[in-house]
Amino acid sequence: MIQKVLAADTGIPLTVERIFGVLSHFRCDRCGRCCREIPGIGLTDKDIERISDYLGTSMEGLIVFEKNRPLLKSPCPFYKSEVGCTIHVVKPLACFLYPLVFREKAETIEIALGCDAATRLYEKLKDNPR
Ligand code: SF4
Ligand code: SF4
Repeated sequence: MIQKVLAADTGIPLTVERIFGVLSHFRCDRCGRCCREIPGIGLTDKDIERISDYLGTSMEGLIVFEKNRPLLKSPCPFYKSEVGCTIHVVKPLACFLYPLVFREKAETIEIALGCDAATRLYEKLKDNPR
């Protein structure tokens, strides 16, 4: 079980262009481990609004709060082993960006080393940031 996922700093400047550049190198193995095991995916207000609209109902019961911050319940209620993410088109921003993680005031892109695919991405970029 992944309790705390360590993130490694790529040294790549945190800009929108670079985020897409880094993600373009990511090859997810689609194992679903992050959806099943990472505790508490952070939700933005827009995430909650978009997902609620898509579901046609409120997200009550699917959210927990930690220090007043809304998080998806864990394991993610939207993950189904046969199909993967059942809300793919409206999934939380954090899921779209994973394994990139963002901290307040961070200046460079960080990669959560929670799986082999993320480690491969970091290994690819760390000595040759683009
Ligand atoms: S990001 Fe990693 S853990 Fe998540 S599905 Fe892809 S390979 Fe698996
Ligand atoms: S919302 Fe989708 S991508 Fe995000 S953790 Fe749940 S199943 Fe995975």
